[in-house]
Amino acid sequence: MSITDDLINLLRVFYPNINTKCTHDKIRPDVEQAYCPDCGKLIKNEWYVTRCSCCGVKMKTIIKNGKILPQYNYCTNCGSSEFESEKIEKINFIDINFAALIKQEVEEEKICSTTKCWQEKTNEQPKLLVQYLQYQQ
Ligand SMILES: [Zn+2]
Ligand SMILES: [Zn+2]
Repeated sequence: MSITDDLINLLRVFYPNINTKCTHDKIRPDVEQAYCPDCGKLIKNEWYVTRCSCCGVKMKTIIKNGKILPQYNYCTNCGSSEFESEKIEKINFIDINFAALIKQEVEEEKICSTTKCWQEKTNEQPKLLVQYLQYQQ
């Protein structure tokens, strides 16, 4: 799998428009979820952190070949190589130094049926009107 990834990355250098898997680069990490402007998929930001299984200290976490791993092989606190990963529900300023971000594609049904879109548009309308009125004053 990693050989294929390397090959794709290499191909991208020469053919930037090559049709490969979208990496959803434009999704900002500070939003919970958003639609990717490049591929239109709903992307959910998920943060993960690894902890030493032995002493429980948080380890700097990286994503390698789609796996959540600690940056170093051994715990700097106790020397253990065992670790466990956990999902962070709400990222904070402390955890962000340790955590790794996974941009998860959310499998969703096509919710944008005609009715739904229409409802969203009518909801949007009053807000715009208010803003317009404020401008007038
Ligand atoms: Zn995308
Ligand atoms: Zn440890």
